[in-house]
Amino acid sequence: MIPFSPPRMDQRIVDEVVDTLFSGWITTGPKTKKFEKLLTAYGGHQSTLCLSSATAGLELVLHWYGVGPGDEVIVPAYTYNATANVVVHCGATLVFADASDDFNISIKAIEKAITSKTKVIIPVDIGGWPCDYDAINALVRRDDIRSEFKAANKEQEQLGRILIMSDAAHSIGGRYKGRTVGSLTDITVYSFHAVKNLTTAEGGAICFNLPPPFDNLQIYQRLNIKSLHGQTKDALAKNQIGNWRYDIVEPGYKCNMTDIQASMGLIEIQRYDEDMLVRRKHILDRYKAALSKYKWVQIPLYESPDRQSSYHLFLLRIAGASESQRDSIIQEIFRQEVAVNVHFVPLPLMTFYKGLGYRMEDYPVAYDNYSREITLPVYYDLTDDMVDEVVRAVVKAVGKVIG
Ligand SMILES: *Cc1c(COP(=O)(O)O)cnc(C)c1O
Repeated sequence: MIPFSPPRMDQRIVDEVVDTLFSGWITTGPKTKKFEKLLTAYGGHQSTLCLSSATAGLELVLHWYGVGPGDEVIVPAYTYNATANVVVHCGATLVFADASDDFNISIKAIEKAITSKTKVIIPVDIGGWPCDYDAINALVRRDDIRSEFKAANKEQEQLGRILIMSDAAHSIGGRYKGRTVGSLTDITVYSFHAVKNLTTAEGGAICFNLPPPFDNLQIYQRLNIKSLHGQTKDALAKNQIGNWRYDIVEPGYKCNMTDIQASMGLIEIQRYDEDMLVRRKHILDRYKAALSKYKWVQIPLYESPDRQSSYHLFLLRIAGASESQRDSIIQEIFRQEVAVNVHFVPLPLMTFYKGLGYRMEDYPVAYDNYSREITLPVYYDLTDDMVDEVVRAVVKAVGKVIG
């Protein structure tokens, strides 16, 4: 069986983790802080806070910005549920926006969805392909939209407009007009979950890149405290002589990253561009070269003059296939010992969001993208021979189902 997405693992990662295990400090400490510094340099933003997941990061930022009941947050209908659930946790109103043909949130749909209650927009770089951030950033700065914005606290007053928080769970290393994902919007959140490009088993990070007068280091400190019960000193700081006394300044959360997790990330980030991204791009190129000749193939966008993907997923679409034909094709591919996936089942199709009143018919592009989509395996250890085997399995399966 060709698996879908095993993590990349080697002796360097093992050695770094073991070093941490015997170091006398296994939770948040020097390795997490070092990982944060490397991530800040990598993304070109102002500061980075590592956490236990991307989900925790998205939610902490919504709390920091004071998002709550009565507020609206615009989220793509086509994403993983984490992007939407955090909005529900805050008691705010979810507003779904339809997708574009490139799988990402449609700018036109965002524009239609904005009201005077909109506080945050969460674009998602599906499969690692960066959204059109110039268009999104320009939208929230437009005079008519800015003048509708109603600030309800100090943070909202300082920004004076809708906050853009990019869900970059797929797209660390993606590039847009020469800049790296991390520095393209006010806030960017990475995921280091086991299936993502850069993994710490579980983990995530908030990249802060807020404009003046915000002090991104100060906001980092505040959210660091928020991620540790609202406690003014972490366990490491309290370990120092005469430093045992601490205060609780708010009822915070508990979602810090451990040094064990950070050890894995430290190794990966240092070889990410020249190693991981090169391999992934090679795999996508090989799929593209092998599949382009078929009439029923729609190749996903992963490179253009102004954008590069992080090559996270290969989102193949079968032209003209119905949802049930697509399902049958997936069955046939699995029968040939190849694991594939679907990214994603649009949220309005799920029981919970349906219960909130969302209807799939209102997001036709998201449905069309989903109904014909099959995600092929992409990971560091996928060899060229395995890529060729996946292609053979897909071609055979489509031949059998569609003819
Ligand atoms: C994986 C994923 C997340 C959640 O990441 P965690 O680190 O598991 O919380 C959020 N959004 C998208 C689009 C994802 O694919």
